[in-house]
Amino acid sequence: MSTRRPLIAGNWKMNGLRADGLALAEGVVARRKAERGIPCDVLVCPPFTLIADVARIAAGSDVAVGGQDCHAKVSGAHTGDTAAAMLKDAGCGYAIVGHSERRADHGETDAVVKAKAAAAHQAGLVAIVCVGETLAQRDAGQTMDVNRTQLRGSLPDGANAANTVIAYEPVWAIGTGRVATPEQAQEVHAVIRAELAARLGAAEADAMRILYGGSMKPDNAKALLALPDVDGGLIGGASLKAEDFWAIAKACG
Ligand code: PEP
Repeated sequence: MSTRRPLIAGNWKMNGLRADGLALAEGVVARRKAERGIPCDVLVCPPFTLIADVARIAAGSDVAVGGQDCHAKVSGAHTGDTAAAMLKDAGCGYAIVGHSERRADHGETDAVVKAKAAAAHQAGLVAIVCVGETLAQRDAGQTMDVNRTQLRGSLPDGANAANTVIAYEPVWAIGTGRVATPEQAQEVHAVIRAELAARLGAAEADAMRILYGGSMKPDNAKALLALPDVDGGLIGGASLKAEDFWAIAKACG
């Protein structure tokens, strides 16, 4: 039986103007306040424009706030980017790094992701480091190799269970409605944990949370969250409705 406390994390992506985003945050915070006993940590990652307002709404509740990305550098001439310390200053406790959409849209390599995770750590944020294979890679039998390689290349020195969360997100399951089966998810999560053990030692690997992400919904969450090496979810589409997001959190109970 694992002692890892699940993390239910909502990735709002590039969705939400003020009215909708703040109402969503209020909906999540109200549910958390009403049901504090649900045994999981709860995190929302709004778009940058809403972070400070969402952090104000979440203040004093058990809902944490995170950024969806951060820059690897501390400050400087990087137009349009956001430093990890700026996220921290705006009220974040977490930063997602290496999401497959950023790897694809912005050409982020493992080395870039590693530098971003290190920057998040330096700013006092927990880095959520995302890995995952494409459908072509899965069909070619490369799933385990791809995830091991991404993990090795993306995890910075100094990563530990307190400052790092891993998110396994098969690219073919993100936003597609096609979810990994419990067997597929557990198989990869176990490989990731073994890789973490080789790198960080058994105790740290045992304590580190590994989230599943990819079309997690209220109706499939329970089976995924019950798996021995699945320690929560990184949730995109279903995090945009407080009711659905909360139904997933309740599946931890
Ligand atoms: C994600 O973007 O991290 C994600 C898992 O999206 P979805 O839940 O919509 O598949």
